[in-house]
Amino acid sequence: MKRISLLGATGSIGIQTLEVIREHPEEFGLAAITFGSNMEAGRRIIREFMPRFVSVKEQADYEKLKDEFSGEPVTFSWGEDGNIEAAVHHEADTVVNALLGSIGLVPTLKAIEAKKTVAIANKETLVTAGHLVTEAAKKHGTVLLPVDSEHSAIFQCLQGEDPASVSRLILTASGGSFRDRSRKELEGVTVEEALNHPNWSMGAKITIDSATMMNKGLEVIEAFWLFGIPYSRIDVLLHKESIIHSMAEFEDGSVKAQLGTPDMKVPIQYALTHPSRLPLKNTSRLNLWEQGKLHFSKPDFDRFKCLHFAYESGKMGGTMPAVLNAANEEAVAQFLAGRLEFLEIENRIEQALEAHSIIQNPDLEAIQHADQEARALVRSLLN
Ligand code: NDP
Ligand code: MG
Repeated sequence: MKRISLLGATGSIGIQTLEVIREHPEEFGLAAITFGSNMEAGRRIIREFMPRFVSVKEQADYEKLKDEFSGEPVTFSWGEDGNIEAAVHHEADTVVNALLGSIGLVPTLKAIEAKKTVAIANKETLVTAGHLVTEAAKKHGTVLLPVDSEHSAIFQCLQGEDPASVSRLILTASGGSFRDRSRKELEGVTVEEALNHPNWSMGAKITIDSATMMNKGLEVIEAFWLFGIPYSRIDVLLHKESIIHSMAEFEDGSVKAQLGTPDMKVPIQYALTHPSRLPLKNTSRLNLWEQGKLHFSKPDFDRFKCLHFAYESGKMGGTMPAVLNAANEEAVAQFLAGRLEFLEIENRIEQALEAHSIIQNPDLEAIQHADQEARALVRSLLN
């Protein structure tokens, strides 16, 4: 049995990971969970799975849970340390990192050092510190498995292939909630409109990232680190049906794609079962007769500025992707709070990138400093 530590258990990926675990009680057990402040969902998960270790964001919630579950075989913790404790928990062999944002970085690094297999949904980890994460994984012989559907697709296409024979990666993009609108038509769009993703049901932040295409930008950087392919050979392809989850092209011109209906449970489960597969009951099957047509087009970098910023930051490397990510996290939070216009998100990111003096080969401290500085700048621009 695989014993899992699930960071971010109450989120969109967290809940779907629990569905996969629930469907295969013989294969998977839940050793530890962490969550933020959704106490109602958290309590339900604790009652159902009785994990050995539970950590929450705030101390006050920790105190409450400790009282409510006194006498049960559960240890409680809170804060950043709690996420780290869960990531290295002795009863877990696999860590699913479904935290949102750059708070996922240190727990990922600690899980790698503790030689846990890491199923990584938290893309911000690889974007901000890809070199530290991949170096640590190499040093400790730790396996990193992608959960993001595009990267899982590519990973599945690469099974049994020589990595050196890959000539190009093609990441597909739905285009998000505003794919059919011009820039002019984006003026004054509401939070509600932006949250209405045509194909995928996801957490709020990543849904906004899909609408700005920053999500695809972050995924380009994520792919660079996971698969070691230069940016000049990573393409983005608009594909509005989200049926082809991504593709790999090989040096003989052959292209492999992974297809399926848009359901995150499939890549989540693959990360947990790799190199094998297990049945998955509650997912709809792909029916290409009914589908009939699939559409493809080239993304316009003037229309989707965030995609352009991401490629540029990725190529510059160093602390630049951390600044890109932090400025984006802050600007999206402001948009979700109704304090920033949609089109201003990309302006804020551009300003943060322009203001930053790049540091090459940054250590963790330099990355965290760049992250904090970018957030502070975006916050100051609001006033
Ligand atoms: P959500 O916002 O839905 O979930 C985030 C999770 O993190 C929640 O459980 C939240 O808890 C928890 N959390 C937040 N802050 C803390 C904290 N300080 N300590 C402990 N837990 C905390 O995000 P998603 O599930 O959508 O995304 C998670 C990651 O997966 C992101 O990096 C995203 O880019 C990536 N991803 C998501 C996909 C999707 O389909 N959703 C697809 C591909 C990648 P609470 O809610 O209790 O506050
Ligand atoms: Mg994705």
